[in-house]
Amino acid sequence: MARLSLVPIKGNTYYIPCPTNIGIYIENREATIIDSGLDKDVAKQILRLLEENKWVLKRIINTHSHADHIGGNAFLCEKTKCHVITSKEEAHFIQNPLLEPALLYGGFPHKVLKNKFLMAKASYVTQIVEAPTVLVDTQLEIISLKGHSIDMIGVKTPDNILFIGDSLFPEDILSKYSLTYLWDVRASIDTINTLKTIYADLFVPSHGQPIQEVAGLCNVNENKLMEITDVIHEFCAEEVTTEEALQKLCIHYDTKLNATQYVLLLSTLRSYLSYLCDEGKIEASYEQQRLTWHKKANIN
Ligand SMILES: [Zn+2]
Repeated sequence: MARLSLVPIKGNTYYIPCPTNIGIYIENREATIIDSGLDKDVAKQILRLLEENKWVLKRIINTHSHADHIGGNAFLCEKTKCHVITSKEEAHFIQNPLLEPALLYGGFPHKVLKNKFLMAKASYVTQIVEAPTVLVDTQLEIISLKGHSIDMIGVKTPDNILFIGDSLFPEDILSKYSLTYLWDVRASIDTINTLKTIYADLFVPSHGQPIQEVAGLCNVNENKLMEITDVIHEFCAEEVTTEEALQKLCIHYDTKLNATQYVLLLSTLRSYLSYLCDEGKIEASYEQQRLTWHKKANIN
């Protein structure tokens, strides 16, 4: 992989631009990293960059348990005996990574789904944090950013830099892919609204460039979310199975499927269908030995 480099942000806050960005905060030569990248290759480069600066890895804070955020944990823990810190619900997945493809697939995952993009190596979580809080022995603020993932957290450094995990995606990623993974639509909307009220000098998403003005990106993400909700709602004008709705969604957004994309998109679609169902806009029917979705009567 390409040689990674360290980018200073402000004061003691840095980041390593990467397909999944790594945040770094330094205190007394001790490093806290925010997420650990996809795999051992990324982890080796993180360690190299820390060693070049004579910093010692003290702890990893995982914003959430998706494999591209925790894939470097196992290697870094083995080499440095660092702490691993995350929220309670994400810890289950970090310690039992089979849960991730199992959750997405909705059953025991076949071998193809146990790939490094869906299933990282297990690592032991040494500390659970309950947001909002200030992490013990540090000045790092932990905030709740649920929605994209079951119990995602963000980290604000004393330099007023906020690492926001996958709570917002940059505009270019949204216009290219549209269908980014989502666990809970309602929680995601709440998180976007919360982010609009938080002041930070810079917001660092896990994918893409850091941003100063978060409100605009919040609106772009919220609009995309509502657009997808409306598109799926329209599919339910006639009775559709979940698989039929997925096919329509892929055609609508010109998205190709493979085993990984299939489970990510199906899981995301199911979350949108649950949201529409809980909002009273669609309902399920179990006629003819199959589940179909349709718009609820008298509601547009
Ligand atoms: Zn994620």
